[in-house]
Amino acid sequence: IVAANWAAIERATEFLYEYTLPSSPSNFAPDWLPAMTADAPVCIAGTLGEIAAMRGDELPVSIMTNFGEFPVGTSKYEKRAISENVATCDLDKCIQCGKCSMLCPHAAIRINAGKGINGVPMKTPELGTDTEFLLTISPADCTGCQVCVKNCPVNALNMISLDKAQKNDAQIAFDNATKLPPIPKEKLNTNIPKHIELCEHMFEFPGACAGCGETPYIKLITKLFGDRMVVANATGCSSIYGANLPTTPYTTNSQGRGPAWSNSLFEDNAEYGLGMRLALNQRREMLKGLLFKAFNDEDDKIIESLFSEKDIDKQRKNVELVRAKIKGNKQIESLLDALVDKSVWIIGGDGWAYDIGYGGLDHVLHSGENVNILVMDTEGYSNTGGQQSKATPFGASMKFSVGGKEQHKKDLGLIAMMTGAYVAQIAIGADQVQAIRAIKEAEAFNGPSIILAYSPCIAHGYNLSDGPAHQKMLVESGAWPLYRFNPALIEQGQNPLIMDSGTSVAASLEDFLKTEGRFNIARAMNPTKFASLVKKAINDNEYRRELKKHIASFAILRNHSNDEKEG
Ligand code: SF4
Ligand code: SF4
Ligand code: SF4
Repeated sequence: IVAANWAAIERATEFLYEYTLPSSPSNFAPDWLPAMTADAPVCIAGTLGEIAAMRGDELPVSIMTNFGEFPVGTSKYEKRAISENVATCDLDKCIQCGKCSMLCPHAAIRINAGKGINGVPMKTPELGTDTEFLLTISPADCTGCQVCVKNCPVNALNMISLDKAQKNDAQIAFDNATKLPPIPKEKLNTNIPKHIELCEHMFEFPGACAGCGETPYIKLITKLFGDRMVVANATGCSSIYGANLPTTPYTTNSQGRGPAWSNSLFEDNAEYGLGMRLALNQRREMLKGLLFKAFNDEDDKIIESLFSEKDIDKQRKNVELVRAKIKGNKQIESLLDALVDKSVWIIGGDGWAYDIGYGGLDHVLHSGENVNILVMDTEGYSNTGGQQSKATPFGASMKFSVGGKEQHKKDLGLIAMMTGAYVAQIAIGADQVQAIRAIKEAEAFNGPSIILAYSPCIAHGYNLSDGPAHQKMLVESGAWPLYRFNPALIEQGQNPLIMDSGTSVAASLEDFLKTEGRFNIARAMNPTKFASLVKKAINDNEYRRELKKHIASFAILRNHSNDEKEG
């Protein structure tokens, strides 16, 4: 084996050839697209623009900010036009469901509603009878992944050449649409995809692989909570496309509010996010103490009411009311933002959550603190090149398990159910409404919550335009059941586990495994061994399904909330 390895290395030189770099960063980058758009502020174009144009080495150090900070919301200035073919929409065919925009991994689709916006009549009347609907696609940001085209329920989307899209002024239409005034969030029903897609984007144009299954989750969560969100991001794909330097996809809404984001290591990200929560709690306590000192005793009730207010808009108004009262008290002013509840999110992939950061994750799940954990499960280490993790299922060929993984997938959801945390398993391509519901419930739960989000990845070995179809098949095969486990229901005398996708099997796992390269490699290497791994996978899934069915069927006999009242 050693001799064969040496021989392989020796022979590698025979296949080396010289490659001439193209003069522009992309083979297809057309003349009409500079590295940074003309509306980029001078300070951004002069630094980040130069790096994007591959002239970063020529920048003097003196041009950088003192602390090496990067401004947010800059991915919109970097138009990369990486695909020869881009999506386009026939608005006459479109039924205005919002699905394409929700599933687009790159935020290249915008949906607008309003009056006089050059759209078509809105098909539903909830935003006013004369409201128009507009769907635009950015040719320069579309990666050509075709997730939208394959998943439009009425085939209203097609691919056209980048040149044709440019001749149709598609980029101008998109850029104009991004400047239209947003519909106020309070007018929208954020339980349905169409209305969520009318919310302002706070994560756009990430540099993830074309068709990535992770980014739609971050898009969705930032639309819901981005204006008061604090993110601890584990190292991995999401930390790379979350800060795809020189530009960044996290951005602000029209009021200038957006997520505060930072990246930490694989091995301490859960603790990093817990630290953020504790620091925010501490700031709140400090503010309370200072307000009690600064005001008279008769104001005590008012101060208490500031800290018990639940409505976010009222919390923001309270900040301004107190600011007017404290007149220049710098210490109180620096803490005033603590009156607005922050939504703390701890984000990462399965390599972090199932493996390297698992000890910390367990600690945080047991902490009782109000944090939300999003695990984007690609069933392997994606960013480092496809190594197996404890989330890798039976039979998948990954690095360190090339012949097919022989151990079962860790059931992180079942483990987390025993910690007192809110737990949900979702797959946005299979069921958008269930994903929205779980994310909103997790955020509302006053304690730790964990969401396991199935995420198709290039490492799975199939065309990612079929990512949502694969998610649906996987759910129907029983290998990834959709569920929500809400401990708050126990307090109401109800069973906490709701099996959203049911407990029966509607598709064959064997058929599903035939559709992905990661399983076909293992099958081709050793069909007999692979067949035995498939059997193990089917048995394992059945066992877990029965276990969850059993938990979901328990009658919760005691109503604890009544017990407390009686006590
Ligand atoms: S998925 Fe199709 S029907 Fe739905 S909004 Fe998009 S283009 Fe319209
Ligand atoms: S082809 Fe892909 S990147 Fe382009 S609009 Fe559709 S989903 Fe978005
Ligand atoms: S490697 Fe996978 S998870 Fe990572 S960006 Fe690419 S598709 Fe997404």
